[in-house]
Amino acid sequence: MELTLSIIKPDATDKNIIGKIYSRFEQNGFRIVAAKMLHLNYDLAAGFYAIHKDKAFYQELINYMTSAPVMIQVLEAENAVAKHREIMGATNPKDAKEGTIRRDFASSIDKNAVHGSDSIENAKIEIAYFFKDDEIYSNIS
Ligand code: ADP
Ligand code: MG
Repeated sequence: MELTLSIIKPDATDKNIIGKIYSRFEQNGFRIVAAKMLHLNYDLAAGFYAIHKDKAFYQELINYMTSAPVMIQVLEAENAVAKHREIMGATNPKDAKEGTIRRDFASSIDKNAVHGSDSIENAKIEIAYFFKDDEIYSNIS
């Protein structure tokens, strides 16, 4: 079993589709083992996306991620990191496969509905960024 970090982004919370996206997680065998809604401030969003700080879209990304509340959760499943990336779909919803969350719910590459950790190592870092150990209801660490 493995844990990964998921964020339902501002465009999706705006559209009132948190439940629809949670259903995708559950239908695909994920357990939601931690969750919180947060309106990210600049520092929290900038720190989370520090890896992208030299990219042209960085400021736009931080503005967008701080524009409305987000729903942040830890998902548990076998191969959670890779499996979650698969059900999310490609970064650009135009390239995302049919039946993926981004294909069905995202409108553009910058407003693409969801975030998911891209490696086991980054999942650990991202989970610790938002959750204390005792806020995660999982038997694995
Ligand atoms: P992913 O979210 O699929 O892991 P990246 O880590 O490459 O994608 O990028 C992080 C986020 O930055 C994307 O989800 C998207 O919101 C935004 N982003 C990525 N590429 C672009 C781009 N070319 N223009 C605008 N925003 C982008
Ligand atoms: Mg990424």
